[in-house]
Amino acid sequence: MGDSTAAQPSLRVLIPRDRIQARIEELGRQIRADYGDKPIYLIAILKGACIFLSDLARAIPGSVRFDFMGISSYGRGKTPSGEVKVTKDLDVSLEGVDVVIVEDIVDTGVTLTYLTHLLQQRRPRSIQIAALLDKPSRRLRPVHAKYVGFTIPDEFVVGFGLDFAEDYRNLSDICVVGD
Ligand code: 5GP
Repeated sequence: MGDSTAAQPSLRVLIPRDRIQARIEELGRQIRADYGDKPIYLIAILKGACIFLSDLARAIPGSVRFDFMGISSYGRGKTPSGEVKVTKDLDVSLEGVDVVIVEDIVDTGVTLTYLTHLLQQRRPRSIQIAALLDKPSRRLRPVHAKYVGFTIPDEFVVGFGLDFAEDYRNLSDICVVGD
């Protein structure tokens, strides 16, 4: 087996995959109902929102387009760096379109406050936020996500796109690390 068996932190399932899938289906139907037959531009934040985006985009019937933005707000691991910067910009114009920012989790709200202001300058018709998870107890900036999958307590979670030092993004369940 070799000696690559370093101790792994334990994982506890917080939200199992079937609940996540059912909730995303609901969100998709709700979003389509809110926008009628208009095209919806999903803007996903790399990398954490990728898995949520791919399921959410398929849960919204009708015209859906998507693009990606890279925002760095956390360093490796659990500690916030306090820094927000764009690491990859959009390839498309947002002028006059209906934008839904797709994010993995709203924590302090620093990232989404920054991003919402940035995208507003590009004159979309509307901007809303879809977040798979919301940790309202940690909020430093008043962010309102219209579409929220699950509100969770102040615990560090991984899985379904969310990482710990780049690991665990591929888990199908949302888990709490190390307890
Ligand atoms: P905010 O700017 O709202 O504090 O941070 C949002 C970002 O912090 C998320 O997109 C995510 O990358 C990271 N983050 C916040 N809470 C967690 C968490 O519990 N687990 C993981 N893996 N990342 C988190």
